Amino acid sequence: MQGGTVAVVGGSIAGCAFASAAARAGADEVVVLERTRGRLADRGLGLCVHDDRAAELAATGALPAGIAAHRLTRRRWVVRDDAAGPAGRMFWEQPFPFHSYHWGLLWRGLREATPAAVVYRQGVTVTGAADAGDRAEVRLAGGAAEHYDLAVGADGYRSVVRETVCRTSRPEYAGYVCWRGNFDARRLAETGGAEFPGDAVTTVCFPGGSCVVYRIPGPDGPRVNWVLYAMPPQTGQLRLDDPTSFPPGQVTDELAAALAELLDRGFPPYWARVIGLTDAEHTYVQPIYDLESAHPTAGRFLLAGDAAVVARPHTTSGAAKALQDASAFEAAWRAADSWDELVNTYRTARAAAGRELVALARRLGRAQVERTPAWAAMNAGEAQAWWQDQLADAADIGGQSMTAPGPHVGSSRD
Ligand SMILES: Cc1cc2nc3c(=O)[nH]c(=O)nc-3n(C[C@H](O)[C@H](O)[C@H](O)COP(=O)(O)OP(=O)(O)OC[C@H]3O[C@@H](n4cnc5c(N)ncnc54)[C@H](O)[C@@H]3O)c2cc1C
Repeated sequence: MQGGTVAVVGGSIAGCAFASAAARAGADEVVVLERTRGRLADRGLGLCVHDDRAAELAATGALPAGIAAHRLTRRRWVVRDDAAGPAGRMFWEQPFPFHSYHWGLLWRGLREATPAAVVYRQGVTVTGAADAGDRAEVRLAGGAAEHYDLAVGADGYRSVVRETVCRTSRPEYAGYVCWRGNFDARRLAETGGAEFPGDAVTTVCFPGGSCVVYRIPGPDGPRVNWVLYAMPPQTGQLRLDDPTSFPPGQVTDELAAALAELLDRGFPPYWARVIGLTDAEHTYVQPIYDLESAHPTAGRFLLAGDAAVVARPHTTSGAAKALQDASAFEAAWRAADSWDELVNTYRTARAAAGRELVALARRLGRAQVERTPAWAAMNAGEAQAWWQDQLADAADIGGQSMTAPGPHVGSSRD
């Protein structure tokens, strides 16, 4: 199918990838409507993509070459053990074939790769969407309505487009939050030790939660990124049942004190010092949600990325899944003879993948945060069995393959 007009609501990871896919597949006009006015590239958070998923996405064109990425090979699981030393005791190590990315640099790579014909409009907030027969109506703040042959909701976990596609699907609070932060890796010198392993994710385990710490690239050199999952203080002052987050510099005193208490009580001293290198400006708190849209399409609308599915971050797969959605969209477009066929093929390709990811993420979250085991008493064999239990039928974390197993496709990563 050739031609047609497409609106992509949201210009982040999923949005840029869908805009590129639509332009490559042959749309006449592709418009991205992004509410943020400033520089999206300043959102400096870390994320990881499984090497096999990255290779598949590079092959479909959804992951452009040349984006800075840091190679990780192993995941270490450690507990506090004062007899073992300040860095604690490692009770298990597993392979971790992922590369880590800086969100802003990943976004910039995707944005720069969007064909010149894509119109990327910033400072445009979409307030609603409506089915207009064989057109998709997109309503903008200020009252204007625009009409397209197809509209993609790539507007994240608080999606406005989802209200039209799947009104009953809403993010559900998982019962815990994550504190996350990042800092210039040169500051590790202040911890006085050389314990920080550059090629590993270290998971610090404590009763009632866990924390992953790893290096990422950054615009001004390598950074250290961490995500700590635990229950927030139960004082009744926090309302987390509605999608929300505490942006950098706005973490409440109560949540900052709770983080300090977790580090003091549960962390090996070295790892508490590492996390303590983060300044308030780079510390965030995000409640964790589950969201599985009953269906990712309706009429001339499609949902993409976090607008369609929010899996708890333990699956390490959200960005990869958003890019896979774009690949599936492009393949569906190329094979379709009509808009209906395109929408139906996309729905068939992506609905089950989303459901399975959310189910795996729930199992991982329960095991690693809600019902943590007696980690300090585990040996490597027990840890391996505990992990396998969480995976159940899934092959690994990092998302599912979209293709049959095949040769590894090289990319420009280090
Ligand atoms: C703690 C944590 C750790 C994570 N770690 C990983 C990881 O290691 N690996 C991984 O792959 N994934 C990870 N993820 C998930 C990953 O970050 C997301 O899945 C991915 O970024 C999805 O991007 P998106 O484009 O769908 O949504 P978003 O990035 O949320 O983008 C939505 C865009 O839409 C815009 N928008 C919203 N509403 C409107 C509107 N009404 N009008 C116009 N524009 C609008 C927003 O401004 C934004 O730019 C993690 C997530 C969290 C919370």
